[in-house]
Amino acid sequence: MAKEQNAVLLIYTGGTIGMMEDPATGALAPIDFAHLHDMLPVLEQFDYGIQTLAFEPPIDSSDMNPAIWAKLGSIIEREYDRFRGFVVLHGTDTMSYTASALSFMLQNLGKPVILTGSQLPIDKLRTDGKENLVTAIEIAGAHKNGQPLVPEVCVYFENELYRGNRTYKRSALHFNAFESPNYPVLARAGIEISYNYAYIHYPTTRKALVVHKRFCPDVVVLKIYPGITRATVGTLLNVPGAKAVLLETFGSGNAPTEPWFVEEVAAAVRRGLVVLNVSQCNEGGVDMGKYQTGIQLLKAGVVSAGDMTLSAAVTKLMFLLGKGLGYQGTVEALADSMAGEMTLPQAREMPTRLGGA
Ligand code: ASP
Repeated sequence: MAKEQNAVLLIYTGGTIGMMEDPATGALAPIDFAHLHDMLPVLEQFDYGIQTLAFEPPIDSSDMNPAIWAKLGSIIEREYDRFRGFVVLHGTDTMSYTASALSFMLQNLGKPVILTGSQLPIDKLRTDGKENLVTAIEIAGAHKNGQPLVPEVCVYFENELYRGNRTYKRSALHFNAFESPNYPVLARAGIEISYNYAYIHYPTTRKALVVHKRFCPDVVVLKIYPGITRATVGTLLNVPGAKAVLLETFGSGNAPTEPWFVEEVAAAVRRGLVVLNVSQCNEGGVDMGKYQTGIQLLKAGVVSAGDMTLSAAVTKLMFLLGKGLGYQGTVEALADSMAGEMTLPQAREMPTRLGGA
């Protein structure tokens, strides 16, 4: 097979990895991806081609939004059959959100979609960008017996490959910027890349890729803290147009027991808002049956996000609301793990279904 027919597609959305310092001004400016091979001749060593597609203009990932997720989904949909895998270069700040969104959007995914970026621009002497980029391409192109080794949406960073919707950005300082506290690492890159096959999802049937592009952003995040006032809680639970509220609670899903708090939350549920409980702790998750404080929320109609990350919970809510399932349909779908984003309480095991609902 000709090199190009079997290529990896590199999509540059923006972020530090694709930046270079302008020697005159010292400002960071995007590199010209058309000349990536000249900058990184090592890419010629892959026995498959690497094609590039750069967003024009590139965006800082703080400007990421559902419309751009849909654009990314459309690119992957259009190019799906032509490429063996995809690498998405992305700013680190919201990489976990985009990885989560893509994991829900790409139903029946059977090819690798690997997001990566870097903490230092790719032209810097000590950059982490080169290693992240080269290994992400290697993983996106890795096959065994004609099958991709990692047919999932992943984040690769500083020698570790994670299920994307299980990650969060933990450091603005260190090279190991990401972590997946509630799901094992899918691969580790040392002298060799060793894959953790038991935790990688492999589709059991071959179905056509379906890309869901509709998100509804009418979600409010209410982070609680000791001393939060009724006025603050009431205002956020009554944001006009909101359809769901993500309640960021303490520990295993606990919140103040003061009657006014529980009453505000129960009233929001009665008004038809989906209230999803996600823990402020990165490790572990919500178990509302554990303490009286959690039980009260359960009685008020609050739904558990289990061990989902905040970024998975936000994007899952936007995704499900975008499907227009209604209150009951949304609540039922939230209890399911759609793309391995949540450990199911009964069986701490692999999801049976990857992709949209
Ligand atoms: N602010 C940048 C971004 O997320 C940081 C980075 O690229 O890591 O786009």
